Amino acid sequence: MKVDCLVVGAGPAGSIIAKEMASYGYDVLVLEKRQEIGAPKRCAEGITKHGLEKLGIELHPLCISGKIKGAILYSPSGKKVVMEGHEMEGYVLERKVFEKWLAAEAIKKGAKYMVKTQALGMKRENGIWKVRARNIEGEFEIETKLVVGADGVESKVGKWAGLNTTNKLTDYHSGIQFEMANVNADEKYIHIFFGREVAPLGYAWIFPKAFSFNVGLGILEKGAKMKAYDYLKKFIEEHEEFFANAQPIEINAGGVPVAHFTEMVADGVMLVGDAAQLVNPIHGGGIMRAMHSSIIAAEVANEALKKNDLSKEKLKEYERKWDEEYKEKTDKLMKLRAFLEKLEDKDFELLADILQGEDIYALTQAKLSVLLKKLVTKPSLLKLAKKYLTA
Ligand SMILES: Cc1cc2nc3c(=O)[nH]c(=O)nc-3n(C[C@H](O)[C@H](O)[C@H](O)COP(=O)(O)OP(=O)(O)OC[C@H]3O[C@@H](n4cnc5c(N)ncnc54)[C@H](O)[C@@H]3O)c2cc1C
Repeated sequence: MKVDCLVVGAGPAGSIIAKEMASYGYDVLVLEKRQEIGAPKRCAEGITKHGLEKLGIELHPLCISGKIKGAILYSPSGKKVVMEGHEMEGYVLERKVFEKWLAAEAIKKGAKYMVKTQALGMKRENGIWKVRARNIEGEFEIETKLVVGADGVESKVGKWAGLNTTNKLTDYHSGIQFEMANVNADEKYIHIFFGREVAPLGYAWIFPKAFSFNVGLGILEKGAKMKAYDYLKKFIEEHEEFFANAQPIEINAGGVPVAHFTEMVADGVMLVGDAAQLVNPIHGGGIMRAMHSSIIAAEVANEALKKNDLSKEKLKEYERKWDEEYKEKTDKLMKLRAFLEKLEDKDFELLADILQGEDIYALTQAKLSVLLKKLVTKPSLLKLAKKYLTA
């Protein structure tokens, strides 16, 4: 079997690049190891409206399970800070539908898909990648000029291509989540909880869906005294006001890579989405960045295929374009993360007082001057902020 472009993985990154490449007129094949695209989900399913607008993506209505107008942040003692405004509006997706819809859109443009088909390895001969795969009919080989690694956080494609994709263990959040029915929370908001005892070096969340809620948390192992699952059980037990009559209907777990490494390409290989560890390092959201990386990668791949030059040097244009768009912001967000990781519970309480009525969205977008100004009256926090944010 021969194709112009082989995509490994049919998550949001894989289906977007498949659609783009098929639209450019290339033969595209997508391999997905799961038997059902979109399931099981490993995601709280939150996505912003302005992010979708930026990428020009109009969701099929069935992809939307909840509509939200903002976020409520909770300090360890329960003080609330409400965030609203256009930038905070968003959706909670039904990912099982969303991912199938993305695949259907790619298929309409001509992409081919194989489900329950796992890529097993690849080797390069005379400028062509030979990818070994297995499905229920057995093992087979696909020849292609371009392999796209859209194979998520546990990506193998980069390693197979000889890229150094290893990150520090401290740069992965462990995520665990119940989807629960009968939660008593305001369904117009996502709810975010901070605290060393709640979710060390991370946060807990409640995201509303049509008739259920995603209730989960992400932690960094280095700050944790127990497993993420135990923190989640404790969180649910300690918040009767939300969960007195709630029951789980699904459980999900997964890793979130919260730091990005730089090598996203090799000869005839591009990594997109979580495979290139492109999530937002503050909140761990990766769907938008995964889709955006695929749009940028497809533009570069199209030029490269037209010129029949799939060299690493040529494909590096994708890295450059990505950095142009995201590097400065990501670097600032990494500093903000380092600052947040230093905060004790008492600091979160102070922040909750200080930030009442503030535009926290601007802060999470790394407009740090606002935060520094606000901290003038809290010398201990100001010192920390200066150390980690302005370094
Ligand atoms: C608990 C949790 C909560 C999260 N919540 C949010 C959220 O609310 N909002 C948000 O934006 N992001 C969230 N994320 C992150 C988000 O899920 C990812 O950033 C996003 O899924 C990345 O998309 P992707 O297409 O790059 O990878 P994935 O969605 O992981 O897709 C990779 C695909 O590749 C397939 N695959 C892997 N290896 C092979 C192989 N060898 N052969 C064939 N197929 C293969 C996999 O089966 C999978 O379908 C969360 C993550 C976790 C773990």
